[in-house]
Amino acid sequence: MSAQSVWWQRRGDPPTQPEGPDSPGPDEVFDAVVVGAGVTGLATALELVRAGRSVLVVEARHPGAVTSGRTTGKVSALQGTTLSELRRKHGDSARVPAYVDSSLAALDWVAAFCEEHRVATSRRDALTYAASRDEVPTVREEHEAALSLGLPVRYETAPDLPVPAHAATVLPDQLQLDPVELVLAMLEQVRSGGGRLLTGRRVQRLRQRGEVVHVLGEDGLDVRGRHVVLATGAPVVDRRMHFARLTAQRSYLMAFSHPDPPEVMALSAGSPGRSWRGGELDGRRLLLVGGEGHETGRGPRESSRVDRLREWSQEHFPDAVELGAWSAQDYMSLDGLPLVGGLGGPSSSVSVATGYRKWGLTSGIAAGIALAGAQTGSPAPWADELYTRLPRLRDLPAFLGVQAGVTLGEVGALASGVRRPPSRAAVEAGGCAALPVCTHLGGTLRWNDHEQTYDCPLHGSRFSADGEVLEGPATRSLARVPALPRLPGTGGRSST
Ligand SMILES: Cc1cc2nc3c(=O)[nH]c(=O)nc-3n(C[C@H](O)[C@H](O)[C@H](O)COP(=O)(O)OP(=O)(O)OC[C@H]3O[C@@H](n4cnc5c(N)ncnc54)[C@H](O)[C@@H]3O)c2cc1C
Repeated sequence: MSAQSVWWQRRGDPPTQPEGPDSPGPDEVFDAVVVGAGVTGLATALELVRAGRSVLVVEARHPGAVTSGRTTGKVSALQGTTLSELRRKHGDSARVPAYVDSSLAALDWVAAFCEEHRVATSRRDALTYAASRDEVPTVREEHEAALSLGLPVRYETAPDLPVPAHAATVLPDQLQLDPVELVLAMLEQVRSGGGRLLTGRRVQRLRQRGEVVHVLGEDGLDVRGRHVVLATGAPVVDRRMHFARLTAQRSYLMAFSHPDPPEVMALSAGSPGRSWRGGELDGRRLLLVGGEGHETGRGPRESSRVDRLREWSQEHFPDAVELGAWSAQDYMSLDGLPLVGGLGGPSSSVSVATGYRKWGLTSGIAAGIALAGAQTGSPAPWADELYTRLPRLRDLPAFLGVQAGVTLGEVGALASGVRRPPSRAAVEAGGCAALPVCTHLGGTLRWNDHEQTYDCPLHGSRFSADGEVLEGPATRSLARVPALPRLPGTGGRSST
């Protein structure tokens, strides 16, 4: 069964193209270099080319290779229990209405873009529902938060759903789509607007020279921009230690064919959370089920989480036929709001955008609109309120909580061991194996037995079995060490 998302399964990964007609000339300086071709980077790039700016997008893998190509494809302003949680953290601050405004702006942006460029979407009700009686007050609280923020939600005490549900708050008229179709259409528009793309090139550092930032990386990469946007998920250059203000949250998705998939996009309010929706792909009726979120590289084995999701799906959707199971991660900031804005340090021309708590199809698009707007002199009306905020004293407990979690993650990884001998692929490739020590800050990596990867419990960097960086703040491959000879009878891809 493939660990690739159902969206990519049907297409196969596009080849990377490090050199080609998009490669910049030796003295070329772009108005903006955007690092990362997920929804954030592509929205930023597209808004900039629409405003007549010269833009180069630099992508380490291929567009949509990481989180954006592995999502549930819900574009919604009702986002589980986000609004009540933000209300609890921020009270009556104008940041929470600004967050809702940014989500609605992003929803409109996606709807207009998809209509203009023929990306298939369906309008659906979005629901936050109570899977047990205990979850009813949480749903009620979310409903009241949404109402007070001006969203036209309705409350249902006995929602008619294919799973047990004791209450729901429902926001009509949200969107669902194939996120890879969206990414590829955005990329096409960036390029037809004159934007350029380098793929297969990992950025490792930045160097400021007067007004110009040199973006430096693998294989002698040296491209120049007057502005740089790091749309890389976790920031890969980090003068303000943003990584210490973020946690990497991994979760799982399964796709099934189903004769009668649900007509709504739903997310349960409690724990363990379950996210599900119906849909159609290539004329086939589709059911998507997600959940089992956890901090990357921590807790029980990843394959056991997929097993739990599978059991739940079989129990509630017995006619479902499994097509695939995969996982992805997104980042959560200390105060629950997206972390978007200047990277600080000597250069104010470098921006970062992350921290969407698994709602980047709205928050990532909003970040792109705002970052491009800031460069072109047409600021988004909600951007200042939402994004310009300094760390505050009351964030200290949350900050200390993240750091305590980091320490526990390291202790847990050391205690459980790396859980795996060198991969057969690594051994066969040259008698060397990846040293399971993270190249970001030296964390002890844990073997992920679902994705066959090494995952860092500290800040969420992930590496392939052969040590190549997959995602997270790390920018360098794992060191390689001579592999131990295989013992007779230990065949198989891993023995975890
Ligand atoms: C399981 C799951 C389901 C989700 N479902 C939804 C949903 O239904 N709706 C929703 O709104 N949100 C959803 N999300 C969240 C959403 O997918 C993300 O918030 C969003 O995709 C983030 O987009 P991004 O462009 O910031 O990051 P990414 O898509 O991860 O893009 C970052 C890009 O930067 C590149 N990169 C990284 N480092 C470098 C480097 N050093 N040099 C060059 N390039 C680099 C990467 O290769 C990658 O392509 C989900 C998240 C998860 C985990």
